[in-house]
Amino acid sequence: MHVTFLGCGDAFGSGGRLNTCFLVDRGDTSFLIDCGASAMISIRRFGVDPNNIGAILLSHLHADHFGGLPSFILDAQLVSRRTRPLLIAGPKGLAGRLDALMEAHFPGSTKAERKFPVELIELPHESPVDLGSTGVRVTGYLVMHPSGTPSLALRMECNGKIVAYTGDTEWVEALLVASRNADLLIAEAYCFERKVRFHLDYATLREKLPLMGAKRLILTHMSPDMLGRVSELQDCEAAADGLELEIV
Ligand SMILES: [Zn+2]
Ligand SMILES: [Zn+2]
Repeated sequence: MHVTFLGCGDAFGSGGRLNTCFLVDRGDTSFLIDCGASAMISIRRFGVDPNNIGAILLSHLHADHFGGLPSFILDAQLVSRRTRPLLIAGPKGLAGRLDALMEAHFPGSTKAERKFPVELIELPHESPVDLGSTGVRVTGYLVMHPSGTPSLALRMECNGKIVAYTGDTEWVEALLVASRNADLLIAEAYCFERKVRFHLDYATLREKLPLMGAKRLILTHMSPDMLGRVSELQDCEAAADGLELEIV
């Protein structure tokens, strides 16, 4: 299972990084974790075939995590000529927010006829959901990050491996369950040690890591403060746009 960080920036372009978008490639199919506003730029820059993406999993409905969906869906319709179904899983309230987003970006786009079905799944909390032909089992955990609908940490199981992702959040105990024994934990680390409400910091993650039991920790969504101190990191790695790794 191959993971590519197509974008690992914050909402404000810190470090010139693209918005959050991670690709998990299982060979015959792949899925995205978050689809930030710059997702289609990421997909083109790193030579990803969008038609091979069977599902998009969303942690929460902020622009830097789901703002790329209108362009993804319109590209599928007009440019990439997609025919395979697209599954989008995210927080409760996804359907209404996605319609509003589509209409704001491309008026009339929600009424357009498409050659591929879009199936939306609004994730319950702490209850696993199997995402059909994509072979992924995902569980959403409620975290602390106001975004108009619930914000989630995601725990994804596929190919016998576990990938966990905190999304954006301050520390909540649910992260212990979401990340337990994960082969890969991708965690927001907005700051190095400064506490910012509704966001995580490296110092907290490092303290909690033994309790989380994740085998590998990669930090993402970093502020200029955090980006300036990545050389000080211990027991974890910093993400970069284009970073690739294999989970074996
Ligand atoms: Zn964010
Ligand atoms: Zn956010």
